[in-house]
Amino acid sequence: MRNVKPVSVGSCTLDGKHIYIQSMLNTRSDDIAGSVAQAVALEQAGCEIVRAAIPDKSAIALIPAIKEKISIPLVADIHFDYRLALEAAAAGIDKIRINPGNIGSMERVRAVVKACQARKIPIRIGVNSGSLEKEILAKYGAPTAEALVESAMGHVRMLEACDFNDIVISMKSSDVNTMIEAYRLCAQQCHYPLHLGVTEAGTERMGLIKSAIGIGTLLHDGIGETIRVSLTEDPVREIKAAQDILKCIGKRGGPQIVSCPTCGRTRIDLVKTAKEVEAALEHVEKDIKVAVMGCVVNGPGEAREADIGIAGGDGCAVLFRKGTVLRKVAEEEIVPELLAEIEKL
Ligand code: SF4
Repeated sequence: MRNVKPVSVGSCTLDGKHIYIQSMLNTRSDDIAGSVAQAVALEQAGCEIVRAAIPDKSAIALIPAIKEKISIPLVADIHFDYRLALEAAAAGIDKIRINPGNIGSMERVRAVVKACQARKIPIRIGVNSGSLEKEILAKYGAPTAEALVESAMGHVRMLEACDFNDIVISMKSSDVNTMIEAYRLCAQQCHYPLHLGVTEAGTERMGLIKSAIGIGTLLHDGIGETIRVSLTEDPVREIKAAQDILKCIGKRGGPQIVSCPTCGRTRIDLVKTAKEVEAALEHVEKDIKVAVMGCVVNGPGEAREADIGIAGGDGCAVLFRKGTVLRKVAEEEIVPELLAEIEKL
């Protein structure tokens, strides 16, 4: 585990003990009611830090409106205009995403730092493969991992020069290998919390695969304090995807389903059964492993490893609990019987 400098974003402390899930509103910044509703929906879905684009002065009104309805921290995403950062700070924002190298002068950087220091607002430096500085791009010829880190560290030094170190860093690339390499390099060079993400990852299927590989690999290395899965989708889907990534890598609890791919031995509709079990467990918070296996060849073995499980037979299944056979159930009773046993766990 990396030695991370804890940075507080509202009530969330980014110190690696808990990996925070983030998302970003995709409602129009001038649609206050819609933005508030989406922020509330994200919080209800399990989002722990939410970000809103603040492209102009009128969008500042989003900050009090959203903060009134949610209890998770709100982040302002600001590009270029340091005055928006000052106004967001005054409006009660919990974190600002801004790259100090892009706001014009050290005087402006100092003004933003002063406003943030006064209110204990951290700053995320968000470097993106699509918007690297021209000079860095010219030096490296492409948005390589080294180029992303050099850009990020340049912004970091500007904040440090103002005696500011409540810093979070992201270096997002749409290329998974570059993203992994960039975060690994950065993790060796600084102790600030890292916000992980694959940028412009795509629509739900590929976006989830890219994010799972990129974010999952880094979390496995012990790198990353907060994550954002970027999908060309309703952001509520990002939360579900992020929760599943964290669950798979052992950073979140909840039910884990083990189900077999079925084969020529299967004699029950296992695909349907597994989907029904998955849907039924959607809102269950117990840390349980549920096995849904097609037959008695591998089935009982896997089912025994699980807290609860079934192994299919011909039009029926055997129900197991922690390695013990409970009883045989008819195919149509598999799901209700399994759920009834889960209730008892
Ligand atoms: S558990 Fe049985 S049905 Fe499922 S894939 Fe393995 S052998 Fe086939």
